[in-house]
Amino acid sequence: MIISMKAGATQAQVAHVIEKIESYGYQAHPIYGQERVVIGAIGNGQMKDHIQSLESAPGVDSVMPILKPFKLVGRELKKEKTFVRVGDNIEVGNSHFIVMAGPCSVESREQLMTTAVAVKEAGAQILRGGAYKPRTSPYDFQGLEEEGLKLLAEAREATGLKVVTEVLSDGQVSLVAEYADIVQVGARNMQNFALLKKLGKCGRPILLKRGMSSTVREFLLSAEYIVSEGNPHVILCERGIRTFETYTRNTLDLSAVPLLNELSHLPVVVDPSHGTGKRSLIKPMAKAAVAAGADGLLIEVHPNPEEAFSDGPQSLQPAEFADLMQAVRQYAAIENRRM
Ligand code: PEP
Ligand code: MN
Repeated sequence: MIISMKAGATQAQVAHVIEKIESYGYQAHPIYGQERVVIGAIGNGQMKDHIQSLESAPGVDSVMPILKPFKLVGRELKKEKTFVRVGDNIEVGNSHFIVMAGPCSVESREQLMTTAVAVKEAGAQILRGGAYKPRTSPYDFQGLEEEGLKLLAEAREATGLKVVTEVLSDGQVSLVAEYADIVQVGARNMQNFALLKKLGKCGRPILLKRGMSSTVREFLLSAEYIVSEGNPHVILCERGIRTFETYTRNTLDLSAVPLLNELSHLPVVVDPSHGTGKRSLIKPMAKAAVAAGADGLLIEVHPNPEEAFSDGPQSLQPAEFADLMQAVRQYAAIENRRM
């Protein structure tokens, strides 16, 4: 239910409505706009029984049901785009176009530092790198774990880049959140609801990747889990879905970008690396992502992709990444985004 207060409603009137909503067993989520306060009443009950009583409360302008199942992350309750702050000077979702880049896995100090310096020089703002890797085979490289997190922190110290890295389980949340500026939920964990609930309480921005067989509705409901537990700082990431096509690793669903922007106020970034799995397709898909209305990109870069412990075939060399950045900068300018 959305309770829209009249312009100029007093604080006491807002407080009274919140109290009423809570007495009916709902959570109240007030949004303080420029002109008026809008209050979301979120819960499971039969709110329609309470509409009349709320409509007649002083200061209330209108009461409307929220029709979509994703209530907090949907545009019905909050029309304005959400900006997710990362550190002091990055806001994902505003007019700046944000690029997160780095290796699939953190492999060594030298590999990470070389990549970090190169992506920073090319204009990336955020360093990516997995310390805990969700590998399909248990015999594949599983990541450097805490040692990898420490290397990421060192690279942040040395370059000033912020750090995004993946968490695999709810038991790891506090450790990963200690080191990361953004905590990543991988495609394989998009519906790990225990993990999502824990991340709702972790106080760090979350990069939520779309599950490889997930619908947009399921994707937004996973974001809803995090936000409803108290963490509104969620960035959505389209990273490709499974289809019958086998030339590419996944089918990058770029139509999801404008669709997500219609349905949700959360920022949306695109990962053309996992979305295609093929080095040659990454630059064209990165340009297309800007045109589709993405707020940023996630790109895998490795100093020597042939030797990469994971995802070599989709990793760009630093020079290829710099070339991509130049193209993306031009496309971003067309879309009135700054880099
Ligand atoms: C990754 O970002 O390295 C990763 C494992 O991605 P995804 O979860 O999208 O497969
Ligand atoms: Mn990868």
